[in-house]
Amino acid sequence: MNTTARTGALADRFEATFGMEPHGVWAAPGRVNLIGEHTDYNEGFVLPFAIDNRARTAIRLRGGSLREDSRIRLLSTYGNQGLVEADTAALAPGAVKGWAKYPLGVVWALQQRGIDVPGFDLLLDSDVPLGAGLSSSHAIECAVVTALNELTGAGLTAEEMVELTHNAENAFVGAPTGIMDQSASLRGARGHAVFLDCRDQSVELVPFRAQDAGLVLLVIDTKVAHSHADGGYASRRASCELGAEVLDVKALRDVAVADLEEASGLLDPMTLRRVRHVVTENARVLQAVDTLRSQGPARIGHLLDASHASMRDDFEISCPELDLAVDAARSHGAIGARMTGGGFGGSAIALTPVGDEQQVRDAVVRAFAEAGFTAPDIFTVTPAAGAERLS
Ligand code: ADP
Ligand code: MG
Repeated sequence: MNTTARTGALADRFEATFGMEPHGVWAAPGRVNLIGEHTDYNEGFVLPFAIDNRARTAIRLRGGSLREDSRIRLLSTYGNQGLVEADTAALAPGAVKGWAKYPLGVVWALQQRGIDVPGFDLLLDSDVPLGAGLSSSHAIECAVVTALNELTGAGLTAEEMVELTHNAENAFVGAPTGIMDQSASLRGARGHAVFLDCRDQSVELVPFRAQDAGLVLLVIDTKVAHSHADGGYASRRASCELGAEVLDVKALRDVAVADLEEASGLLDPMTLRRVRHVVTENARVLQAVDTLRSQGPARIGHLLDASHASMRDDFEISCPELDLAVDAARSHGAIGARMTGGGFGGSAIALTPVGDEQQVRDAVVRAFAEAGFTAPDIFTVTPAAGAERLS
């Protein structure tokens, strides 16, 4: 189904469910991080892009401009989860279970900014795979904040919506995440990666057109569920904070690759490995940006490979399935590959010459079967538009 047909079908389904037409349909994409992993909360650099998979939300404020009640009704086309009901006046962090915590977290965060949100009905339809490291949760939050920003006349800028969804995800949902995902989803642009400085939130769009260089970017979803709220992510954050404290810097962003030798005398071996990942990864993002601008995507492969090795060996957030995906892709034609996202599962990316795409896909599927792993999902992504109103 093309975008127009899909948007129309969503509006029809909304009307069949809630009995009235939606006030509009808004969409926000998932994202793939090209490079720059676990650098965001260290006030460093990341280079994600918005993908063509996205969450669409049809929304109608209840009572239109009359703001007649404070009831929220939410339905997703995913699974058979049924209608979720809530009240705008009774939202509290940690109290909501299930997927509703993402849209309701946005409502709560708007309220925290003094923005009055009336009751509304919402129908969600997303083709961002869940839990694959492509940020299906932020796609929902960004679609909802874009819609409610417009419908309530709040007038928030993209930067403010980034902060707001960051607050929703951290304080309401309870997932300690940085600002990368929502920045890509809200500020992405077709044909470009989003070079984001997580210290001041400044963004530069960097051309990333793999197809012009005869390449495709494959996403290999290992089907291993990752979980951010889990100990692994929290303990990496704690190591980074400890590293910054011992090295007496505001954040690891302030440590240069050349400082690592001196740091090695001050940090315990594990903290040193964690710090080394962040510091070298920041440098790789800067190199990737320079290389994309001066030479194009065909020359960034070695940076993707080095990023993966750093996450596997220093940050220790890979897993056998991700390592196998990367190795199989690399040895069958990919010019660079790495795990992407928070780690411990989720997806890998493989930058692959168009002519080798099928061979890489087959090799990865074969390797997974031989290892007795669940069959992966493999698909291509291209840098797509950020959050927008569709109708
Ligand atoms: P990721 O954001 O990396 O995909 P998360 O665990 O942060 O993984 O978010 C996944 C959660 O987002 C799911 O467990 C579910 O609650 C919610 N979710 C994502 N897509 C949908 C959808 N289409 N319908 C309902 N809930 C969804
Ligand atoms: Mg998420």
